[in-house]
Amino acid sequence: MNYVFDIDGTLTPARQPIDPLFKKFFLDWIKNRNVYLISGSDYPKSKEQVGDEILHAVNGCFNTAGNVMYVKGKLMYRQDWEAPQELIDLLQSFLNESSYPIRAGNHIEKRIGMINFSIVGRACTLEQRKAYNLYDQEHHERAHLRQIIMEQFPEIEVSIGGQISIDIYPVGKNKSQIISKINGPIHFFGDKTMEGGNDYDLAKELLRPPHKVTQVNNWEETMRILQEL
Ligand SMILES: [Mg+2]
Repeated sequence: MNYVFDIDGTLTPARQPIDPLFKKFFLDWIKNRNVYLISGSDYPKSKEQVGDEILHAVNGCFNTAGNVMYVKGKLMYRQDWEAPQELIDLLQSFLNESSYPIRAGNHIEKRIGMINFSIVGRACTLEQRKAYNLYDQEHHERAHLRQIIMEQFPEIEVSIGGQISIDIYPVGKNKSQIISKINGPIHFFGDKTMEGGNDYDLAKELLRPPHKVTQVNNWEETMRILQEL
């Protein structure tokens, strides 16, 4: 069995470093197992969150939704994407028109193979991040923006990830693309496996045996489940 773990919300708190005790446990757990990590973030961010020790102990780390893969710190492949200017213009209009009052900076982040977009901005403080997430839970702003983008750009897909942003990429260039890079059955752990979530595209391909999907609410739950595996 191959084990694949989402990072944000599954191995770590969103955008935060891994808990030191869980890190120790996880390093031990992955010994003699085939383990891969997957994240919507880029590799430097994953490195910041889980550290080199874990990144070098796993079989591979897929970043920006599988558009790049690293094995023991070495780049294995990358797939770039040039987003259409009309899309950038649309995102800019969202920023101008959203009634959410705060703009903290770094709203349109171009990553390998995708764009990460946030109304409050990735440069926000932890507090601003939580505040936006509460706002979004009430107003469903991200779901609304997702809808608009997908209606205007049939060749583009959008998923809601983390607490403040949406991930935008060409159709099919989502987390599910990693399945073809891994040999054999996959047991996937993710915190956003529901429809519209950024683990959904991968999870929905793995629902039937020999594959398996485990939805978790946080890293504590991941740890509890791994202790019993
Ligand atoms: Mg996650």
